[in-house]
Amino acid sequence: MRCRKLATFSEDSGSLRRTFLSAPMHGVHREIATWLEPLRTELQIDAAGNLRALYPAAEAATPRLLIGSHLDTVPNAGAFDGILGVVLAIALLKGLDGRRLPYAIEVVGFSDEEGVRFGTPFLGSRALVGRFDESLLALQDSHGVPVRKAIEDFGLDPANIAEAALRNDVCANLEFHIEQGPLLESLELPLGVVEAIAGQSRLEFTFVGRANHAGTTPMNLRFDAIAGAAEWIAAVEGGAKRIPGLVATVGSLQTEPGAVNVIAGKVRLSLDVRHPVDEVRIRAVEGLVRDAQSIAYGRGLTVSWKERMNQSAVRMDHSLIAAIEEAIRKAGCKPHRMVSGAGHDAMILAERVPAGMVFVRTPGGISHDPAESVLVDDVVKAIECGFHLLDEFAESPAFQKRMHRA
Ligand SMILES: [Zn+2]
Repeated sequence: MRCRKLATFSEDSGSLRRTFLSAPMHGVHREIATWLEPLRTELQIDAAGNLRALYPAAEAATPRLLIGSHLDTVPNAGAFDGILGVVLAIALLKGLDGRRLPYAIEVVGFSDEEGVRFGTPFLGSRALVGRFDESLLALQDSHGVPVRKAIEDFGLDPANIAEAALRNDVCANLEFHIEQGPLLESLELPLGVVEAIAGQSRLEFTFVGRANHAGTTPMNLRFDAIAGAAEWIAAVEGGAKRIPGLVATVGSLQTEPGAVNVIAGKVRLSLDVRHPVDEVRIRAVEGLVRDAQSIAYGRGLTVSWKERMNQSAVRMDHSLIAAIEEAIRKAGCKPHRMVSGAGHDAMILAERVPAGMVFVRTPGGISHDPAESVLVDDVVKAIECGFHLLDEFAESPAFQKRMHRA
């Protein structure tokens, strides 16, 4: 399958890692170009490294529908996250077999969604919505290479980034993506329609106590930062379980001094909180901050925190949700509306154009791992769903009239 073929273009030998504008991305672009050649698209790589292939409409000066996903990966990645959405878009063009529609289709392979190389995600899609500002060009990767230089090294000109922005002729953005979670599998459904992409808070907490000898300090005279942090972590888990739809994770923890025979004096932890409703998420974060304060107070510790990210939830377009549901039904499946806990390019595109997403069942819910997979039958259903959508759009002048909210 084509996803597996693209997984061979990697920065690491033996596993898949393909970050923003890394050398193997050239290989991926060349491979995709060979697939696109018989489809007679107008292919270009924009200045932000996005692959853009335009399949013209029956007539000139018609709206365009974007279909795509991302071509970059995390380290030790699976073969389908992002890539499937691009391969599927090309399969739809191929299936049209030269037939022209009342709108053009632009296949987009985004250059950066994961944010692995420069520590900030969505570099590709931000260029499309005109939000790739100067400050991004100065970001450096772990080797000290700035974004500006990475773009030049890839053979592109950072001065042209503004030209990558969408014009006013885009009627919608459609993204097919693996679910990356266990829900569709648990419901025995191949496809889902995304209603919203959850908002996300990220914070960093530091508990400070007093480092001391593990053998000579009695239990009642300790200021143990790890014990305080542990009590709070349990409160995070318990608190999240009480709020429907909320997920809260302490995923990283550094202790000081981190020795077996020393009571910890300091613990730094991360907190990640997500929910489709922003007020619920913000209230939950406030509650968890209060928990941290009262636990620290009760133990004679201090706690401080910094906000690292506060991303609002993004709703997908209503009429696209309805159209996708209908297309899933026509493909012989039961549609299921769901919230995406992970961020996606569609959430950036939704700033400017109506955006919709179709999720494909992920066996075992496993993603960001070489064991990531899809079922061939599910991909066939996704393609069928895609064709029904193209037809629905073709028959809907109202849809084609919808342009950009810029
Ligand atoms: Zn992805």
